[in-house]
Amino acid sequence: MAEVSPITAGHRVEVTEVGPRDGIQADATFVPTEHKIALINRLTEAGVPRIEATSFVSPRAVPQLADAAEVMKGVKRSKSTVLAALVPNARGAIRAAEAGVDQIVVFMSASESHNLKNVNCTVAESLKAFEDVAKIAHDSGIPVHGAIATSFGCPFEGDVPVAQVARIARAYQDMGFVGMSFGDTTGMATPPLVKERVLAVRDAAPRLSQVLHFHNTRGIGLANVMAGLAVGVDRYESSIGGTGGCPFVPKATGNICTEDLLYLLHEMGIETGIDLRKLMGMASDMQSVLGRELPGQIMKAGLRLDLHPMESVRTAVG
Ligand code: ZN
Repeated sequence: MAEVSPITAGHRVEVTEVGPRDGIQADATFVPTEHKIALINRLTEAGVPRIEATSFVSPRAVPQLADAAEVMKGVKRSKSTVLAALVPNARGAIRAAEAGVDQIVVFMSASESHNLKNVNCTVAESLKAFEDVAKIAHDSGIPVHGAIATSFGCPFEGDVPVAQVARIARAYQDMGFVGMSFGDTTGMATPPLVKERVLAVRDAAPRLSQVLHFHNTRGIGLANVMAGLAVGVDRYESSIGGTGGCPFVPKATGNICTEDLLYLLHEMGIETGIDLRKLMGMASDMQSVLGRELPGQIMKAGLRLDLHPMESVRTAVG
């Protein structure tokens, strides 16, 4: 088994912002194209190194992201920010390549029933379809990253065998993918599962860069990040304000919140290169765009040493 070097003070972590895709995909409020473009531009200016910008899925399946090509066309590009986009199949890969994405992300679930429900394919069929995507991407010189949903459990089947996650990761590596994400849309990850799965995939597919994608569904999203840092994972995905959710867990909170994650990492002396204050402002603006309160906490509480004038607080009586 590979040696584990924890991520600690002085290390750098890459935070991917998934708000423009995962965060708003299922939102009932349509976010106008110019707002999406402005969001991505502000994230780029704030130093976010990788953004999940959109998804080239069928506009009928996901009306929120029907403007994928316009978004890609409208955003300012920067050499220091990778713009990734999800694609469900070869047709999506062709559209994504035409739109000039920096990275293609394919996705499937580790459990058969969730994969059938989500993309209407068996696990084997998904892997087969990815070979076509990989070929298109390769011909266009675009790297491919593969997400594995239900990496920590399935809402229909319960526990997902770690060997199944490792097998899919190995298939990704064999297809020449550059990285993989452990997806936890239904918030079933726990620190022991994180450790187990990260190590198993590192053994099975050592060339794949690993990314952890947690949801705060059960309130332990950042505890899972701590578990990931302890086993040396230096890439995480999160969404501004904690946007997003899961159709199977009504009222569940969404992705772990980017500002809260940055706060944790920065307080631990871990660098991200991202301007947290800018993200806090953007998260507040996001609440106005979506017309509701978002779960992010740092944008509301401020940083720990943000002082308050004494006169502004009433003195307790009695
Ligand atoms: Zn998510």
